[in-house]
Amino acid sequence: MYWPETLSKDIQNKLSGPYHVDDMKTPSGQVHIGALRGVILHDVLHKEFLKEGQKSVYTYIYNDMDPMKKIPSDLVGKGYEADLGKPIFMMKAPEGTKDYARYFADIFTGAFNKMGATPEILFSSEMYKAGKFNDVIKEALDKVENIRKIYSEVAGYEKPENWFPVQVICPKCGKVGTTIVTGWNGKEVEFECRTDLVTWAQGCAYKGSISPFDGNAKLMWKVDWPAHWKVLGVNVEGAGKDHSSAGGSRDMATELCKLFGIQEPADIPYEWFLTKEGSKMSTSSGVGMYAKDLVEVLPPEVARFLVLRTNYNTAILFEPEGETIPDLYDEFDRCATNFYAETPEDADAAKYFDAAIIRDQFKQHNFLPRFRTLSSYIQMPSMDIQKWATDEKGSELTQFEKDILNERIAYAKIWLNTYAPEKYVFMFKTEIPENATKLSDVQKNFLNSVTKLINEKYINSEHTADELQFDIFELTKVVGIPSKEAFKAMYTSLIGKEHGPKAGWLIKDIGYATVNERFEKIWKNSL
Ligand SMILES: [Zn+2]
Repeated sequence: MYWPETLSKDIQNKLSGPYHVDDMKTPSGQVHIGALRGVILHDVLHKEFLKEGQKSVYTYIYNDMDPMKKIPSDLVGKGYEADLGKPIFMMKAPEGTKDYARYFADIFTGAFNKMGATPEILFSSEMYKAGKFNDVIKEALDKVENIRKIYSEVAGYEKPENWFPVQVICPKCGKVGTTIVTGWNGKEVEFECRTDLVTWAQGCAYKGSISPFDGNAKLMWKVDWPAHWKVLGVNVEGAGKDHSSAGGSRDMATELCKLFGIQEPADIPYEWFLTKEGSKMSTSSGVGMYAKDLVEVLPPEVARFLVLRTNYNTAILFEPEGETIPDLYDEFDRCATNFYAETPEDADAAKYFDAAIIRDQFKQHNFLPRFRTLSSYIQMPSMDIQKWATDEKGSELTQFEKDILNERIAYAKIWLNTYAPEKYVFMFKTEIPENATKLSDVQKNFLNSVTKLINEKYINSEHTADELQFDIFELTKVVGIPSKEAFKAMYTSLIGKEHGPKAGWLIKDIGYATVNERFEKIWKNSL
């Protein structure tokens, strides 16, 4: 099952087009990788509608009217304490001239643009200031009794008689999280900026009356969400599954849509990105990586593939320190093979690859060098990787295939330097590895035989690493040692691991003299 197709059919059965797909995010700091799931999911669905001949638009909203509730850990002590409670569009960015919300929004947009998602970007503050929310604010204030009833019946919150679903940006201190509206006369709201309304911010105690329109006030989050749908005409918007809990924001939105006289958008309650500990990757938990970092460690198509390959109702397990990244490339390549095949064995795999393509050249048949193999070969300076790739393909690489090869080499280097498990990193140990002293006498004697072989045939000669590899293998037969034991002895002595890249290349790269010195020391210790 190719989930975008199934999901799009489900939605088309429920409501007819044209479609307005939307997603949103509060950029209260660097946006975590988890938020990419919503962006890519909506993007894939939007493109599926278009592919099926439907009309569809896709917008992405930054909720920059939201108050700053908690300073991100990397910005604590940098002068933001006084901003707690202010709308994030009224705060200064850590650098440059943009406002705080736009600064972080632009970084996040840059990340998902690289991953092939290019929704129209909207900022709530601009829509509020342009008066686009005026009608729905008036409606919410006029129908406040119904809204209080919805809060009570759906979420179990009893709101007092003088409660209203809007918050004013205090004209004196600029905070929005500290204000409370206590009256509405059809033109202006009465409000107070309280010192003790919330625990995370302190208001200035100002009281007054003000028009709630043209950006002076915002709707409270649970009302703000369906208000956006009404203002924009959104009819498809999913959210992380926690919004769909009983009595949660989605249930509230369902009732508010009825009140506002709009059809509720189709929902897509999606699962999370998980780390290996199983904890949700999000801004609040502080677990995991930032969205901007994902596109630094993976090529754009592979990053996009990571997010779209898993059905939205299943958690994505992303363990950059584990096997996730090399496994991901293998699955990407498997789907590519199906896409390039005339009659694919796995038709869904072909569709997932198609959905991951950003650069058109990927649509032509391309040779894709295996990431795991490349990661090992690039650690051997004498290895001719271009030649290896040409041999693997069986003909000259096209220009784009050379580009892919160089791109994968660059990302393999990043992976080896950041997340790759120790077993993939083959570095010559400058000290004799501890486990080398525990080799058997047979193994140590074999090392001595290799030293002799190198001295007799290889030092100051033109013989290749390939020949050395062959000779070492022959030597195991002469010495009468199982080849597995023999190679283990060499890897343990040189890189401290039980396996490694082709020994002939490894030895040539480290240098004959250095290898001989190491092998001799280990052999002599056993005497
Ligand atoms: Zn105030």
